[in-house]
Amino acid sequence: MQTYHNTVSGKQTEAKEHQEIFNPATAVSLGMAPLNSEHDVDLAVEAAKHAQKSWASVSDQERRETVARIAQVLEDNSAYLSGLITQEQGKPLSGPGSRFEMQACVGWTQVPSKLELPPEIVYEDDERKDVLYRQPQGVVAAIAPWNWPLMIAIWQIIPAIRMGNTVVLKPSEYTPIATLEMVRLINQVLPAGVLNTVSGDGRIGAALTSHPDINKIMFTGSEATGRRIIVASSKNLAPITLELGGNDAAILMPGTDASAVAEGLFWGAFLNAGQTCACIKRLYVHEDDYDVVVAALGNVARQTPVGDGMDEGNLMGPLQNKMQYQKVKELVDDARGNGCDIMEFGDIPSTGYFLPITLVGNIRDGQRLVDEEQFGPALPIIRYQTLDDAVASANHLSAALGASVWANSAEEAESTALQLEAGTVWINQHGAIHPMVPFGGNKASGYGVEFGIEGLKAVTQPRIISIKK
Ligand code: NDP
Repeated sequence: MQTYHNTVSGKQTEAKEHQEIFNPATAVSLGMAPLNSEHDVDLAVEAAKHAQKSWASVSDQERRETVARIAQVLEDNSAYLSGLITQEQGKPLSGPGSRFEMQACVGWTQVPSKLELPPEIVYEDDERKDVLYRQPQGVVAAIAPWNWPLMIAIWQIIPAIRMGNTVVLKPSEYTPIATLEMVRLINQVLPAGVLNTVSGDGRIGAALTSHPDINKIMFTGSEATGRRIIVASSKNLAPITLELGGNDAAILMPGTDASAVAEGLFWGAFLNAGQTCACIKRLYVHEDDYDVVVAALGNVARQTPVGDGMDEGNLMGPLQNKMQYQKVKELVDDARGNGCDIMEFGDIPSTGYFLPITLVGNIRDGQRLVDEEQFGPALPIIRYQTLDDAVASANHLSAALGASVWANSAEEAESTALQLEAGTVWINQHGAIHPMVPFGGNKASGYGVEFGIEGLKAVTQPRIISIKK
């Protein structure tokens, strides 16, 4: 059985303990992943701290070229890594699955390699000149989740490295293998110590985020863990970029042509079997359009094969882990118990954490499947009478990552879009993130943004040089 390793100071390290990782679609063993101790966290942070000064001192041009080389490594190894993602995380090779995740990794690495953040004259008159320089923060702790394990790790580590920080990354204990392999490969083109990993459960995440030598924390995951990390950061006062998931609402404007939007709505909700932070998790439909919209979504669902993602024909995989499988099942069972219409589509394999694609009708705000983030392939469809009601419903939760408005024309959707409380409101698309466009949550979905120039600023600290003339 293969054993996978962390990378610290450019070297593959040995751990005292390991855990076995299984394919969530087939229950087949994938190998052993390291389980670190708090002492291992100290060693990884020390390595990152040691490397940081010299990494910060290389020229900006050289760092950009190095990041471009990382993009090439990701591209060259995308077949290997997408196979690992599918076997470990569950999303299929095909469709918006693991190959798509690898393309995103390449894109989100290429873009920062081309971006610049030069010094900025913020004030000048006859007597003085004030210049703002963007300095690296130091050692970045990156805590990644299990739903898009490589893509989200890339979102955290690439801007940090680009701007002269060094990184200690902790993958989720559910999906360590593909991430550890990606980091091993990236290290071929990085100086030792610039990108390191530690592995283990939440205790290792807690040891990392509270470590006194951590200068910045990048976190994507649950709200509960986000709150713990805020407390942990009181030990090091590290600023945090917090992406805490969402419960995104989509509003379909009255009279929208359901056949034109059904496919976009479907994948907006069921991307990665719904295990995506910015997925449609509540769909609000005018009562007059309800039947036709449910039928149109049912048609797309019927044409979406669910199964082992290594089979090229499948477009949707399993839930990634038992905790998530049980959570989604429980929310659907709760809706069933409350008399909602449970519409299940497709045959699912008998092994693995598979759930059918599920549309849930005759459901209201206040029911668990609407108010709690399901993070799975079950979409509640809620009837509304007036647009004001739909907007009030969309805004009634504390989660506020994304939202969307769907209409026959973008103009028709604009004023409704402006009323929605979310970090991003999409029109006639959902979850359409882009490496140049800042992305982050409002309200309980977190704070700080990733991507583009704003994302680079978030991994720097401003330093002002103030000159008397
Ligand atoms: P968590 O928030 O627990 O996990 C996310 C990451 O944080 C993992 O790497 C985890 O490690 C780590 N972690 C856990 N505890 C701590 C801690 N005290 N300090 C630092 N890091 C820690 O999410 P879960 O996996 O438990 O999923 C729960 C729910 O969160 C899901 O049902 C879903 O609703 C939501 N979620 C949202 C995501 C998003 O993209 N926004 C991604 C994942 C989940 P480890 O896994 O090893 O414990």
